[in-house]
Amino acid sequence: MNAEIIAAGSEMLTPARIDTNSLYLTAELNNIGVEVVAKSVIGDDRDRLAAAIRRALSDSPILILSGGLGPTEDDVTREAVAQALNRKLTYSGEIAKALERRFARAGRKMAGINMRQAFVIEGAAVLPNDRGTAPGQWVEESGAVAMLLPGPPHELQAMFERECLPRLAGMVPRMAIRTLSLRVAGMAESDVDQIVAPIYKKYENPATTILAAAGEIQVHLRARCASVAEADALLAEVGGPIELALGDRVYSRNGEPLEAVVGGLLRRSGATVSVAESCTGGLLGERITSVAGSSGYFAGGFITYSDAMKVEMLGVSLDTLERFGAVSGETAEAMAVGARRRTGSTYALSVTGAAGPEAPSGPAGNPIPVGTVYIGLAGAAGARVLRRVLFGDRQRIRVFAAQMALDLLRRRMLGLV
Ligand code: ATP
Repeated sequence: MNAEIIAAGSEMLTPARIDTNSLYLTAELNNIGVEVVAKSVIGDDRDRLAAAIRRALSDSPILILSGGLGPTEDDVTREAVAQALNRKLTYSGEIAKALERRFARAGRKMAGINMRQAFVIEGAAVLPNDRGTAPGQWVEESGAVAMLLPGPPHELQAMFERECLPRLAGMVPRMAIRTLSLRVAGMAESDVDQIVAPIYKKYENPATTILAAAGEIQVHLRARCASVAEADALLAEVGGPIELALGDRVYSRNGEPLEAVVGGLLRRSGATVSVAESCTGGLLGERITSVAGSSGYFAGGFITYSDAMKVEMLGVSLDTLERFGAVSGETAEAMAVGARRRTGSTYALSVTGAAGPEAPSGPAGNPIPVGTVYIGLAGAAGARVLRRVLFGDRQRIRVFAAQMALDLLRRRMLGLV
């Protein structure tokens, strides 16, 4: 079954606000097997809103509207739905009394304009709002339903959960939904797609989406079946070959982030890690320590931007810096070896690179291409350095470099490098 979402409100069209209600609603609808096929943001214009409502209800059996239920002139959702369905708005004395009681409880006198919230679309069920003044409405029309929910997220979420989900359960065929989320490091989106598309393209169910973020690709599979067992079997049928094809590039099957996967490997092997960061400026240490319990395996870190700090804190030799430059494999290796020696950790990771936007000069005055990064790893089995030239802006390059470093450690601990 399909649904559409309309977020009403001119403020949602400004750079200051984001329509997060539709993200919440989409997740909840997906959970009960409903697909969101379209969503839009529409300003406080009754005619424009009414046209969008009419179109959405002719295409999809479920329409959720958020916002525009307040008392002011620019809150026009009630009027727009009434216009779209060609129904009257009727005054509800009951809602008016409830509004008055709410204001009285707060020791405030209700302004006259609040009475606008007491108008109900002909034939609609009123959805009580215990977190705000604007009641919601549930209106059915020729087998379709429009839900009018308040804009503030805590009001909308409480109302949706308590009032809408139970009503939707009577409308939506019961479905079991199971998901598999594979996270893949060290591969480009196009490479992942080339490998997995021949597998998932044969299936409409499970639905497969590929999402790219800096340094990783996520392959999401969502199976919708009559029973959990069927959905699990379908996920295994499609997800199994995808996992096999991607091999050890898959670092997580349950959505767990790379730092948590690496943390688990360190904890299980009783190993520790330290970091020496230049261009990532602490990002790597931040990610490692964002995992609860990381104090059990994270020895500490160095943020060494200047050459002098690399020499003083990590023992990188001046000769290495002068001959090869700060952005070089030799320096990355010396940083990792130095961090390991100074902290006594089992492993040490280092990052040095040119995050841009200016391209720095190498030791011979030659420009180092922006995006060049060196990742160093030192351990009992010796040191290893990776070089990559990454695309993107400064932040993307830094995030990508931190991801590469974590993945290098993962691969070392799994005996892959
Ligand atoms: P109120 O009685 O609070 O005015 P309302 O239904 O009229 O309720 P709006 O005035 O449209 O709601 O929005 C109130 C606030 O709720 C907005 O300023 C914004 O902070 C938040 N909000 C509205 N719509 C959304 C949305 N789609 N996503 C996230 N927040 C939203």
